[in-house]
Amino acid sequence: ARKAVLAAASGPGATSDGHAVPLLANIGGPGDVASALEHGAEGIGLYRTEFLFLDRATAPSGQEQESAYLEVLNAFPGGRVIVRTLDAGADKPLAFLPPRGEEPNPALGERGLRLFKINPEIMNEQLGALARAAAQSSAKLQVMAPMVATAEEAAWFVAACGDAGLPSAGVMIEIPSAALRASDLAAEADFLSIGTNDLAQYTFAADRQLGALTMLQDAWQPALLDLIALAAAGAVGRGKSCGVCGEAAGDPVLACVLVGLGVTSLSMAPPALPAVRAALSRHDREQCVLAAQAARAAISPQEARTAARSHLPGLAGLA
Ligand code: PEP
Ligand code: MG
Repeated sequence: ARKAVLAAASGPGATSDGHAVPLLANIGGPGDVASALEHGAEGIGLYRTEFLFLDRATAPSGQEQESAYLEVLNAFPGGRVIVRTLDAGADKPLAFLPPRGEEPNPALGERGLRLFKINPEIMNEQLGALARAAAQSSAKLQVMAPMVATAEEAAWFVAACGDAGLPSAGVMIEIPSAALRASDLAAEADFLSIGTNDLAQYTFAADRQLGALTMLQDAWQPALLDLIALAAAGAVGRGKSCGVCGEAAGDPVLACVLVGLGVTSLSMAPPALPAVRAALSRHDREQCVLAAQAARAAISPQEARTAARSHLPGLAGLA
């Protein structure tokens, strides 16, 4: 029994009935890889590449990018590494690429993929560096775009990845329009990944940086759970995977609910991995589905959490 507990503490993520749920890490660069490995990450589910680009007078060269990407890929031989293309905007401004005009609402402005539509050369340089890094590594590189609103945008990004020679191109679901039409986006992309931080911000029209609105940023909000379920179903219907890489994935109780909603992998800050791994290993898939149904039937975040927990007895003493 002790052996089983130890395996659950460090092995691949799975429910008690053996349904695999890859547990991946969110990182900001090669410096975070050690922590990801130490906490048993099976791969990287979100590499936020903007840290390479921020606080500098000129864009990083293709060569500099390639070596940073290769360093991360080489840490996971044979494993999965999902790299997100640059997610900059007036909220995370680039010194070498000032906003075209004043943006009164940066979160609603030319950020993420929208910036690439105006400056495709920055995207193409990044995709090229990623393709060269992938060619030198045994890791399975998957590249995804942030702030995708429509299937048309998804198709545009996927085509650019194809032109660069990248094997797998996905899109983030962090805008309600993308969740509502997830099936259309999944028809274009190889995979979906839900960013619950921004999805909550845009669903509740609540600035994620405003402490006074944290109640509306609560990932247990039933409306957010509905959109996550819709996104997962859209992906499944197209035979594609759909992960979650927002902070919600690191809550052990919510992680079980996300699996019950149909999410296929979870990516989180490395220190959150062990508790999520343990919570999943103590419940079967059916319990996760029942917990998810109960949470969606609630009318408040508090009620959703309590209702979900009543179906997840293995959490006692865990979370
Ligand atoms: C998100 O929006 O949930 C996400 C994972 O991306 P970021 O927090 O970097 O915006
Ligand atoms: Mg985001």
